[in-house]
Amino acid sequence: MATNGENGRHQEVGRKSLLQSDALYQYILETSVYPREPEPMKELREITAKHPWNLMTTSADEGQFLSMLIKLINAKNTMEIGVFTGYSLLATAMALPDDDKILAMDINRENYEIGLPVIEKAGLAHKIEFKEGPALPVLDQMIEDGKYHGSYDFIFVDADKDNYLNYHKRLIDLVKVGGLIGYDNSLWNGSVVAPPDAPLRKYVRYYRDFVLELNKALAADPRIEIGQLPVGDGITLCRRIS
Ligand code: SAM
Ligand code: CA
Repeated sequence: MATNGENGRHQEVGRKSLLQSDALYQYILETSVYPREPEPMKELREITAKHPWNLMTTSADEGQFLSMLIKLINAKNTMEIGVFTGYSLLATAMALPDDDKILAMDINRENYEIGLPVIEKAGLAHKIEFKEGPALPVLDQMIEDGKYHGSYDFIFVDADKDNYLNYHKRLIDLVKVGGLIGYDNSLWNGSVVAPPDAPLRKYVRYYRDFVLELNKALAADPRIEIGQLPVGDGITLCRRIS
């Protein structure tokens, strides 16, 4: 892992946390997260750890946070954009009451199918409607239909960062007043404050500008209240107020 010296903070991709030290993050995981992690989530986390793109998965502490959040707001109708092997999807499915639903979208069905047996074994597959393909046209179709305005309690966005603002334009219509949208990776590996000459990986550098633009736009959007949390790689919660 690369660090920038003195305070041991990371600069490079490879960490799941923005905390001061690895030891502190490990402490959180071992003390508060892993002992309470439901068995299916543990199983899916271990399966995903063997995937070559395992860096994309939601971290266990963020999974625990999402689960708590969904219960606190009493969410029923939810959406997820960006599923990968389904760790955050499973956290959502476990937190929702039995007759509630998740519309889950990803361009890659193969990865979703890696986690699907775990979701099925946990008896949760009936809550999920998975759509393979880019999310944007699905959102456009839903808006055109007119049936889905203000119908979502919770929407978790964890996909192509260069489309987050395009998602926001549509999701603000689909989430209900009082409902929440969570934009994940909103601190983008800490790169939002990296100096211009910082040795960032290519894809970190590319998406960074979109994340910076998103954060500014959300902070200036009068239709929402926001909360920026340093959980995982940063999540910005947006509560629709008008
Ligand atoms: N939430 C997931 C988890 O808990 O493991 C992680 C999602 S991963 C960071 C990002 C996902 O977004 C990838 O699986 C990728 O295939 C998907 N994706 C990328 N572009 C997309 C698009 N235009 N529409 C829907 N999904 C997309
Ligand atoms: Ca993420």
